[in-house]
Amino acid sequence: MHTIRELDDTYVAHTYARFPVSITEGHGSIAIAEDGKEYIDLGSGIGVNLFGYCDKVWMEAVTSQLARVQHTSNLYYTGPCAQLAEALCTRTGMKKVFFCNSGAEANECAIKAARRYGQLHHGNDCSTMITLKDSFHGRTLTTLAATGQDHFHELFQPLTAGFVHAEANDLESVKRLVNDQVCGILMECVQGEGGVNVLSEAFVKGVRDLCDEKDLILIIDEVQTGNGRTGALYSFMNYGILPDAATTAKGIGGGLPIGAAMLGEKLQDIFTPGDNGSTFGGNPAVAAGALSNLNRLDDALFADVRRKSELIFSALNGAEGVKSISGMGLMIGIEPEFTTAREIARACLDEGVLVLTAGHNKVRLLPALNIPDELLIRALDVLKRAFAAGRE
Ligand SMILES: *Cc1c(COP(=O)(O)O)cnc(C)c1O
Repeated sequence: MHTIRELDDTYVAHTYARFPVSITEGHGSIAIAEDGKEYIDLGSGIGVNLFGYCDKVWMEAVTSQLARVQHTSNLYYTGPCAQLAEALCTRTGMKKVFFCNSGAEANECAIKAARRYGQLHHGNDCSTMITLKDSFHGRTLTTLAATGQDHFHELFQPLTAGFVHAEANDLESVKRLVNDQVCGILMECVQGEGGVNVLSEAFVKGVRDLCDEKDLILIIDEVQTGNGRTGALYSFMNYGILPDAATTAKGIGGGLPIGAAMLGEKLQDIFTPGDNGSTFGGNPAVAAGALSNLNRLDDALFADVRRKSELIFSALNGAEGVKSISGMGLMIGIEPEFTTAREIARACLDEGVLVLTAGHNKVRLLPALNIPDELLIRALDVLKRAFAAGRE
């Protein structure tokens, strides 16, 4: 008899520093471990389980589609894929959607689209993308190159060429990098993995204006910020701008793999058959679940996300051991004063609360959007104790 941990440690590639918990069940915002211990989950599988574990509405959408047809490949039409694309375009102002399986792939697609646009409109050398320091855009060789954190670049050289990095919230540093070879700018409005850093409105609007002026493609990476997370359907909506492309993944699938690259007016006709593809992309069961999720993301829910956000900010702002707190909606980063984020996460785990960490020593919260107040308040008490106790 081997425990789950022993098997995993023996046979699964060691790319993760897992916490010592095997989760065997979950409902709503409660995860249940192999040993029966219950956890209040403030991470939701890194912002994926939008309505918590085994949400009934989402499960019904997925399983009823599974019982009809689970997969066809993209050689044929299926309803959920077409309907999800329609819903995404109608609600964002985008014109076409490419479906894939992950955030990294969605970003790859948007980068391909921006390069094609640059080459078609400004010549073959127009292929460089500007991204921001402390960004995170994925783990493929191209999205690692896009990711503006040096420690991600060291191990796997050579990465895809054609990425340069500007300072977040410093428009001049972006302008300095613009030249005839630059085709676009890719950024997160709230940098997730990089430390829950919120871009300023002046910066985001300034980048939009710059892209208009120079005919650059602006891609907003909504993989983590999207799908209600920041109190709007997509975070760019909080800034009153419309990008030329937006990518999403994580939460939209509610727990099944999906990525989407949404293409705006300038990019809508950039691809022709054969230019991009995915075996699973737009899979009907996943798409049916995603459509059901999207249909529940309405103004009432966004208002509730913002209300819960204020609840968290007011509980932790100025609390003992909290050095700083940042974020938007239910995407929040908290910097400990006395200890490391990893230590706080461990202490919370012992007390039955799951939290995430992020760059620059942040504890990161991405709870399910429908987490009940009662669980949130209990978890915040545990968090406050963990931050205060770090002093020893
Ligand atoms: C998680 C994440 C990605 C990568 O998504 P995967 O599905 O893991 O490929 C890309 N961009 C951002 C902002 C993310 O948070």
